[in-house]
This record gives sequence, C-alpha cells and structure tokens, in this order.
Amino acid sequence: MDSEETQASDAGRATGGLSGLFDPDRVAVVGATESEGSIGRAIVDNLVADFAGETVPVNPNYDDVLGLDCYPDIESVPGELNLAVVVVPPSIAVEAVEQCGEAGVRNVVVITAGFGETGSEGASRERELTAVAEEYDLNLVGPNSLGVMSTPVGLNATFGPENALSGSISFMSQSGAFITAVLDWANDQGIGFKDVVSLGNKAVLDETDFVEAWAEDPDTDVILGYLEGVENGAEFIDAAREATEDTPIVMVKSGRTEAGAQAVSSHTGTLAGSEQAYEAGLEQAGVLRVENVQELFDFAQILSGQPLPDSDDVAIVTNAGGPGVMTTDAVGDSALSLASFSEETLDALSGAMPDEANIYNPIDAIGDADVDRFAEALDLALADDNVGSAVVLSAPTAVIDFDDLAEVITDLQAEHGKPIASVLMGGERTDSAREILREGGIPNYFDPARAVGSLDAMVRYRNVRDREYEAPERFDVDRERAREILERADERGDNRLGVEAMDLLDAYGIPTPDGTIAETPEDAVEAAQGIDGEVVMKIVSPDILHKSDIGGVRVGVPNEDVYDAFEDLVTRARNYQPDAEILGVQVQEMVDLDAGTETIIGMNRDPQFGPLLLFGLGGIFVEILEDTETRVAPVSEREATEMVDGIRSAPLLRGARGRDPADREAIVESLQRLSQLVTDFPAILELDVNPLVAGPDGVDAVDVRLTVDREEL
Ligand code: ADP
Ligand code: MG
Repeated sequence: MDSEETQASDAGRATGGLSGLFDPDRVAVVGATESEGSIGRAIVDNLVADFAGETVPVNPNYDDVLGLDCYPDIESVPGELNLAVVVVPPSIAVEAVEQCGEAGVRNVVVITAGFGETGSEGASRERELTAVAEEYDLNLVGPNSLGVMSTPVGLNATFGPENALSGSISFMSQSGAFITAVLDWANDQGIGFKDVVSLGNKAVLDETDFVEAWAEDPDTDVILGYLEGVENGAEFIDAAREATEDTPIVMVKSGRTEAGAQAVSSHTGTLAGSEQAYEAGLEQAGVLRVENVQELFDFAQILSGQPLPDSDDVAIVTNAGGPGVMTTDAVGDSALSLASFSEETLDALSGAMPDEANIYNPIDAIGDADVDRFAEALDLALADDNVGSAVVLSAPTAVIDFDDLAEVITDLQAEHGKPIASVLMGGERTDSAREILREGGIPNYFDPARAVGSLDAMVRYRNVRDREYEAPERFDVDRERAREILERADERGDNRLGVEAMDLLDAYGIPTPDGTIAETPEDAVEAAQGIDGEVVMKIVSPDILHKSDIGGVRVGVPNEDVYDAFEDLVTRARNYQPDAEILGVQVQEMVDLDAGTETIIGMNRDPQFGPLLLFGLGGIFVEILEDTETRVAPVSEREATEMVDGIRSAPLLRGARGRDPADREAIVESLQRLSQLVTDFPAILELDVNPLVAGPDGVDAVDVRLTVDREEL
C-alpha cells in the first residue's frame, strides 16, 4: 500500500470510526459534581474506579471534584480530549455540546434527559442537538443515555451501579434500565462484555452505527441488542447483513405485541413500525431474533465461546433416560437433527459400553456410568464425522463427580473443535463445575431444551453466515410510462388508483390480460369485439375499493350482453354511492380460473423498513387464512422464491387434486418486478394485485389497487 492510500484509509477511520468513543485517553465529565446521589457524581466515581486514562471534571462551581482538578468549562481544559460525557441540565445541554464541538472533542455522550421523550419542547431541543452534532461532525450518543462502557480500558462512563466484566460480547440497549439489570445479572453469571452502549434517544448514533463499528472490531465476537425500534430499516439491513458475515447479531426487539408497541412509542418516542416488517427485516439482515432475555444471553454465550458446527447433526450423551428423551424431543423442534453414528463408531461404542447401555443416539451410558465411561462415549461420538455438535446430560449420581466431568467435557470440546452444550442437572453441586465449563466457553443449563436451543442458534447463524448475498435483479422496464400513470392520478386529484392503473403493471413487465376502460356502452361493445370470447366487466371508480362487494364485477359476459352490462354496472355503482366518481367500465379478457390459483402480491410501506412485500393465496382466502409471507423490498430471486415456497398452502401451487402445478418462476418474477416498482417509486404507499392468477403457463394480474403519496411524485 502506498502512503497516499494509507492516509486516505486513516482519514476514513478517523471520521467514521467510533474508537475515540470506546478507547479514549482523556474523558471530560461536563457537569461533574461531588454531591452524593447525583448523576454527575456517579459518573466520576465510575470513571475513576477502573479507567486506564484520565478523567477531567468540568463545572464552574468547583475547583476540584473528588481530588481531580476541575475546570470551569471545556474550553479551558488543556490538551486533547477524546470524549465528553455531558450531564448538565437540559436547558444548557445543547450549549454544552456545542462547546465540546468548538473545543474539538469528537465524541460526546449526552446523559441529560428531557429531549424527544418528553414532548414538543424536548423534541425541538433534540433537533437542535442533532443540528449541533452535524455541524461539528460529532459522534454523539444519547441524549437520555445511561452512558457507555468499554472493558479493555476500564471505561465506565455510565451512572449505573455496576461495571461490566470483560468479555467479547458488545451490547447496545435502547433502555438504560435494562442495562443496569442485565449487568447485575451478568456479573453474577460471570458473563463479560467488550463494549456496552445505552443508545438513549438515538439523536445521532443509532443501532446501525454500532453494528458497523462492532463488525470491524476484532475484540467483539457477538453483537447483542435490545431495541424498541430501528431508525432506518434499509440501512440497518445492509449493515447487519454485512456484519453477520463474520459476527453474529442477536436481538430482542420489544413492542412485539400491539400493547407492547404502544408502550414503546411512549417510552422513547419511537414510531413503531409493523411487527411483520421487523420480523422480515431482521431475518433478511441475518439477525437472530430472540423472544426473551434468557435466549439473548444463552445465544451470546455459546456463540462467543465456541466454534460453529459444520453439520446440523447432534449427538446426545447421557446417563439418564428421561432427560435424554426430553433432549431428543427438543432436537425434533429445532433446525438440528439427531446424528446417525457410523458403523465404526457403533463398534467402538459397543466395545466400550456395558451391554445394557444404548449405543445409538442418544447414547445412554446408564445410571452407573462414571466419568471415564462418559469421556469414552463423548470422545467416540465427537470423533464421528457425522456429528456436528453434542449435548452432554448428566443427572447427579454417586459415581459422577461433576467437576471431573466438566473437565472432561471442556478438554474434549477443545480437542475435537465441535461445540458442546452441557446439562449437568442439579443445584449448588453444579456451581464449581459450571465455573470450569464457563472457562471453556461451554454453557451449562438445567433445562435440556435450552442446551438444544443454543446449538440450534449456532446452526442458524452458520446458515446465515454461509448464505451468499444475492443482489436484487434489475429488469428492463418502462419507468417513464409508470411515472406518467402515477402522475395521471395526481392530475385527477386522487391518491387512490384501481384497474385504470393496470398499465403500471404492464410497464414493469407483470403480465396483465387485455383490457380497456370504456366510458360509454358503445365503447364497451367495441372493446369487447376486439377480445376473443366472453369478457369480464368491472366498474372503475376510485370510490369503490372492493368492486365485487357491490356487484361491480361481471365475469363471462357474452358480446351481446355487454351494452346492458355496462349500464347495469353503472347503475349499481350509483345506487351504492350516488356521488361516486365513475371513470367508466373496464372490459377485460377472461382468464382461466379453473386452471389457475388466485394469489396475491402486494406491498405496504412501513415507516421504518420501507416497502414490505407480501405474497399469499389471493381472492377471498387472503383475509381468512392469513397465510402470507413478507419481505422487505428490494428482494433477490432467492428471497422471492422463499416467499412463494414459504406459505403454508404452497402445496396447492405445486398441483393439488390432479391440477397442473402453477408456474412458480412466473410468480417469483412478478414479485421481483413488483419489488423493483415499489423501490423505484417511493410515492407508492400501498399496492395490491389481488388476484394474480397463477396458472401452469404463467401468471395474469387481473386486478390492482394502489395508494400514492402525491407529495412524493
Ligand atoms: P375486486 O377485488 O375489486 O372485487 P377483481 O377484479 O379482483 O375485483 O374481481 C373479483 C374476482 O373476479 C376475482 O377475484 C376473480 O375471481 C374474478 N375475475 C376478475 N377478473 C377476472 C378475469 N379477467 N378473468 C377471470 N376472472 C376474473
Ligand atoms: Mg381483487
């Protein structure tokens, strides 16, 4: 690398990286005090406890704080400061941050609350804060943050009661209280961290920034998050997708239920996106989403402590039949499967085990098994190429010493390089064994299901890591024509469009049957004469969303009935809603419904994740069955295929009851094209093609409905 390149990349790191935040030499505490019980005091206390660098109190009311020289303002502090922690009252917090920027401090943690979480005055204060941070290009955490920690340098710039133990898990949380609770518990469990960040209101730095920073951090093995919302879904997906190529991300996203979502939005002022969008977005990003705190740390521990398994097949070694069966059941519910041992392994096992033992998986070494017998069985199982991981289960017996067994498990794990989850069952008697296992990166659980769940997480992460990123395909489309069609809606002063926008689909290469909008019965007759056989006629009105509900769709109309059908459809529409705006009647080619299946492809724009694509069975089934798959657009071919294959009724599309299978590739391609359309036009707020008739030789979009945001056009 030549020197110019070196400089360029260094400069890049200096502006983009967060090393000054986690690895500062000197930290100022703006608003440091000595008064007992105050936050300004707690932060200084926490900093001086372990921090390898220098702590500099700033407060005009003190000459020194806890024996450290105190400065009246940040400007008068001599020398360079890498980080400022701001704890002054909200009324002067923005000014204090501005002074940090002025003084050249690049990293600022704003502990002060009373911003966006408190109402309109706070919200405008938060906007000022963001503007100041932008002006000075600050890495700003918070406001309303508990602070940050980084164990390698002993940095505890929080006002929490506990410091973290050192480890390789980096943890971000949108709730500061959750961090204090987690640390209290994690310290008890011996779980350590690399960095900990309380995100607060995320006025500047958010989850995406930390995912990016930790993905680059060699000391972070696992990224954990407690999130209530994602600021920018698309950016987050990109960052997480890249990070998970090397570093697993495990997240709890709260606000999963509607009640929870409401609680969240009043908590941090987060605009909650839809649950479906999160589920789809996090999955596409490769994030392991968990339901509770226990799983969060179960997964974090095993992922940070052991290598990933090469195969999904697990061996179970036990001295107790019952728990062995429980484990087997749990395997059945997971992505793992029970390994079949090779002949060689079985021979060796039958030589080593007593006759009463079961040498097939799960290996039951039976109740009188001592540590040596366990060791032998586990060694043979792990040596088998068919085995990717193991669960070791032991009930307490007179011949088993848990400490010795823990040593054996740890040694064999290291020797074979395959992950193990251990279930030494018991209370206090497992304490020291647990310690030994933990040193070896092996978690111990009382519940076999948790052990299986942890190995399952490893397999799921390995699948994430191994999946090739596939860029969304770009089709050759007529974007200009699509724009014109959308603008027509704008000219008409309406943001809702129906079948009059059928050409929009055509412009993006989604097949539609022949159709014309007739304004008079005569036009309708002429249109029908241009179409082979009977036709379908539909009322076209932006005020009528569900045409068939009001008798606004006539299927199988012969040419001679077209004139009357036109008048009948218009009369029905007038009866239904006298002031409805009627654009005409669509005369459409018939599609063979007997040979095809009515499916739906659609999109809803989520406030955080953007366009959320949907696929499911269409027609009347869609609401009843709730059998749909969603993904955040743009989708790749693989993702679109997963959507089609993922619905429960997928077998219907593969040809049930002697019918020919539907043209799967054509459905997949329509989804990809729709994905491109809604990505190209942010003005499309929602869109449904229902039904997209999927026949054996292709698809037909026979209906469309969409809403546009005229401001975005
Ligand atoms: P809406 O959803 O507003 O009621 P659609 O255009 O979806 O109106 O029509 C309702 C139903 O009529 C469809 O689900 C489909 O079963 C049938 N249908 C509509 N258009 C056609 C067509 N071109 N060929 C065959 N059947 C059709
Ligand atoms: Mg419809």
